[in-house]
Amino acid sequence: APALDIDRIRADFPVLARSVHGKPLVYLDNANTSQKPLAVIEATDHFYRTSNANVARAVHALGAEATDAYEATRDKLARFVNAPSRDEIIFTSGTTQATNLVAYSFALPRLVPGDTILVTQMEHHANIVPWQLVCARAGAKLKVAPISQSGELLVDRFVELLTADVKLACVTHVSNVLGTINPIARLARECRRRGIPLLVDGSQAAPHLPIDVRALGCDFYALTGHKMFGPTGTGMLWARREHLEAMPPFFGGGEMIREVRFEGTTFADPPHKFEAGTPNVAGFVGLGAAIDYMDSVGLAAMAAREKALLEHANTALRSVPGLRVIGEAADKVAVISFLIDGVHAHDLATLLDLEGIAVRSGHHCAHPLMQFYGVAATLRASLAFYNTHDEIDALVAAIGRVRKLLA
Ligand code: PMP
Repeated sequence: APALDIDRIRADFPVLARSVHGKPLVYLDNANTSQKPLAVIEATDHFYRTSNANVARAVHALGAEATDAYEATRDKLARFVNAPSRDEIIFTSGTTQATNLVAYSFALPRLVPGDTILVTQMEHHANIVPWQLVCARAGAKLKVAPISQSGELLVDRFVELLTADVKLACVTHVSNVLGTINPIARLARECRRRGIPLLVDGSQAAPHLPIDVRALGCDFYALTGHKMFGPTGTGMLWARREHLEAMPPFFGGGEMIREVRFEGTTFADPPHKFEAGTPNVAGFVGLGAAIDYMDSVGLAAMAAREKALLEHANTALRSVPGLRVIGEAADKVAVISFLIDGVHAHDLATLLDLEGIAVRSGHHCAHPLMQFYGVAATLRASLAFYNTHDEIDALVAAIGRVRKLLA
């Protein structure tokens, strides 16, 4: 892929031009939420200025325009993940709503006492807690597939754990803490061979990797819009049609029914069966613009740039005395967790903020992963294609300055 014109790219993201505490902003918290290009900001603004109306209800012009703009994002998402059908794309408020939908509509009705749901040691709480909640109701249990010290799933152990009690396996495509890319296609083959459905948390994959649910061979794929340059409060669940047809709705209300009588209600077909109530219309219009924006930049060009940034960051950070990187998978995205001897993550992040540098410190909604590494918190620098080598150098230089204050 041809190299990106980084000045032009950065000009697409207005917030990147601001300063923080009198210093130029260095935004390295992209795994938490990414920044938004003008195309997304303008698409939501334009929607509210010109076409604002509720969707799928009114025959008037604005209602039709709003519905068209909103439904166009379903087509874009279907293409983005290579879904066999747009009707398999359920709009959600994010990954969290998607995993909860699967927990209550798919898992809970199937679970009986003694059953298990298999997760991995590196899951985000959004891919742990919903399963715990439904397991507790059903008398079922969680099982956990282990990882190596370098932050890679132990695939053979995962496969050994795929026994008859497992009713669902849930794995993140990319770890939000370690950056590890999991071998989903391989895991899906093993699950399918045993008739075990596989849910993939694609939150951290969507901004970095091409996604092809058909090639991956999973059953469910969840993602969140705000990490892929789109608005907050948008996301998606893709599921195989057979599952969507079998699943009862989770939320009830308007826009998800065929006919309502007090004696009983019949439901609309998927996807609408799972989309009760007025959705985040402007948000999904913005998410459509985010997908168009990513297409215009090019996923391959983005990935190539991120790879170069990751290599630079790895080298630069390893030059810092006493710095330990957590997560050294061979196959990873540009997310780097680290610790520095004798320095508290929160203290360092607070001082870095005074230098204009935004990194995240904490447990990253992954307590069990922190427990595995025996730490309470890490610092995390997570990069996007709009970051620069200079910003990474600024991070390393600032760490050098501020650690003197903490020593
Ligand atoms: N899974 C992973 C791997 C994540 O990184 C996140 C967001 N930090 C989520 C799930 C939850 O996404 P959301 O809060 O947008 O629902």
